[in-house]
Amino acid sequence: MADPVELLKQLVKIPSISADPSKRGEALKTVNFIKSLLEELGAETNLVKNEASGLNPILLGKLGNNSNKLTLALYSHYDVQPALKSDGWDREPFEPVEEDGYLYARGASDDKGPLAATLTALQELKEEGDFPINFRFIYEGEEESSSGGFEATLEKYKEWLGSIDGIVILDTAWFSDDAPGMDYGFRGLAYMGVEIHGPHKDVHSGLGGGIMREPMTDLVHILSQLIDADEKATIPGFYDDVAPVSDAEYTRYSNIPFDVDQFRMSNGLRPLLKDDPLQILMDNWRNPSISIHGVEGAFYEKGAKTVIPAKVTGKVSMRLVPDQSPEKIAELFKVHVEDLFSKLNSPNKLTVHTIGTGDWWYGNPESFLYVTGERVLEEYWGKKPTLTRSGGSIPIIPFMEKLFGAPAIAIGIGQNSDGAHSQNERIRISNLVGGKEVLKKFFSEIKK
Ligand SMILES: [Zn+2]
Repeated sequence: MADPVELLKQLVKIPSISADPSKRGEALKTVNFIKSLLEELGAETNLVKNEASGLNPILLGKLGNNSNKLTLALYSHYDVQPALKSDGWDREPFEPVEEDGYLYARGASDDKGPLAATLTALQELKEEGDFPINFRFIYEGEEESSSGGFEATLEKYKEWLGSIDGIVILDTAWFSDDAPGMDYGFRGLAYMGVEIHGPHKDVHSGLGGGIMREPMTDLVHILSQLIDADEKATIPGFYDDVAPVSDAEYTRYSNIPFDVDQFRMSNGLRPLLKDDPLQILMDNWRNPSISIHGVEGAFYEKGAKTVIPAKVTGKVSMRLVPDQSPEKIAELFKVHVEDLFSKLNSPNKLTVHTIGTGDWWYGNPESFLYVTGERVLEEYWGKKPTLTRSGGSIPIIPFMEKLFGAPAIAIGIGQNSDGAHSQNERIRISNLVGGKEVLKKFFSEIKK
């Protein structure tokens, strides 16, 4: 019997914080440890340099080459978020402690718990005989630092990995504490900058106020017209490509245990726009949104500085959903902002640029991966899993689906209440052990 708790303890003791340049050595130590475990399983490994960032390497692996068997690629990340006891932890974040059925440590749930469950599931399968399927491993080390260079690196090693029938994302958690869960969708993103250029340098308002057109005035006018009082985008065409809700999809939302009051409290949210739980879930997961994040170049410190900034840039992002194209939405945004600006008759100069885009992911819950996933989760936990989406974005999932021409599934191991990225991160021991058992069953029973 392989013990996922012991393995997890070993993994979380190494602080592989990708955001901290002084922890490169720790990240390398972690990935080399996982590499040696893959090799013990009989895998051929390839620790490859991150093509763009040149920072933490990506660990690739191949286990099994039987063309009569299915090949699944497993994705996880070995880096973690920063953590210090002084951030408000009850204990040292990198010294694992077992308490009340949980293991506490940074990375316990995100994402070393899923890694420990996977590796021990494979160790047990090996002890029991032949592996039921072929495996490919994709373990990245900069997920918590926005996965820079992941796509370019994977493109380069696509041939080395060979053909893949399905992708298993092991980096998500159960939606509710009471039932196992799988995610099947994330929103995409288009992040935009709206730049207004005025005088060639900042001006004292005693000198320029009242006699010149101020860049900030133009920007405020524009930003104020992007979103209406119902938080809807005013961009013409913005909602045109949003896929309609099917009956099957609607039923899935109504099966999700979702307590609006608890959600309000746990997220520190003020009164929500709507009270209907189904509508809240749909607005968060399957409808697009637009948010204004900030203005670069503007005065924001304490006190009263009387400056007219010469150049200001408004930052606006839009979370996007099937079937919106991030590139098309970015273009619609640009056209709309240019139109609003032209109505101002301003002598200033406007530039609208795309800061970044990411695709949404919609994993078909009727695909062979989810059919088996749903069955094995229910068999092990004795409860029907919740099938959920998320309002966030993980663009590398649709990227891998396109690159390998294979569908993906996200099987939750920990729980949303684990405090990933937060203080006192933890994972329930039974989830860890259950994760190992579920994965063994999933790998043994998966059929196309
Ligand atoms: Zn993660």
